[in-house]
Amino acid sequence: MSDDLAWLKEIRALVFDMDGVLWRGKEALPGLNAIFDWMRDEKVPYLLATNNSMSTQQMYVERLAGHGVTVPKETIVTSGIAVRDYLRATYPPDVTVGAVGMQALIEVLFDEGGFTRDDRRPQVQVVGTDLHFGYDDIKRACLAIRAGAAFVATNPDTTLPTEEGLVPGCGAMIAALVASTDVQPTVIGKPEKYMFELACQRLGLQPHEVLMVGDRLDTDILGANRIGARTVLVLTGVSQRQEIVTTGIEPTFVAADLVELLDRLKGARDQQ
Ligand SMILES: [Mg+2]
Repeated sequence: MSDDLAWLKEIRALVFDMDGVLWRGKEALPGLNAIFDWMRDEKVPYLLATNNSMSTQQMYVERLAGHGVTVPKETIVTSGIAVRDYLRATYPPDVTVGAVGMQALIEVLFDEGGFTRDDRRPQVQVVGTDLHFGYDDIKRACLAIRAGAAFVATNPDTTLPTEEGLVPGCGAMIAALVASTDVQPTVIGKPEKYMFELACQRLGLQPHEVLMVGDRLDTDILGANRIGARTVLVLTGVSQRQEIVTTGIEPTFVAADLVELLDRLKGARDQQ
């Protein structure tokens, strides 16, 4: 890790993970309001990127509003939105799509995205976390993939943290389908590149001009490193500093929290 933070002056935009970065459980993390105030005053563009495909943009807007932060809906990029944009970029508009997932994913693909839904013989089978996942879902998706549908998954997270403990995430559903089809999916969410590439594209910036702020080395930091973005690990969520050594996944720098990150960003601006 470099102690020379001269590169910080090149940063034109920030991309934040949310859980463990902006809040933990119901609690806002220190510096949340200050960093959004600063970005607004300094006109620094930002996006909020999450692997979660179960919530809509509006749900995140409201959650942030609950912490006193106002963000435009367009700044929220869920893995469902990233899948929709991936499908738009990859397939003709009349492609047929099968989907396993919660209502937010269904809405983003079919109501907003305008794709034609076909759960029997789709050309693309999308799989996102579905809290009602059952044998009929896996059977339907399995048959579709075996019949040649492209297999696209929202995110690879095997578990989700809840108050009850770790529960199955999208990766667990992917595992069931990989086992029954022998086909590996195209994964869109972190740590794969697509969501980060999409973020840079939306911001109209090169990766080295974008700073990814995350709390997980194996998703936020690994994925952003893969496209050549700058990365900051905040120590308010999952990963701790010593894991940089054990995982070999190195962020550009480490900040205790958003308060320290904001200090660094202000320092870089003041020198300009
Ligand atoms: Mg997180």
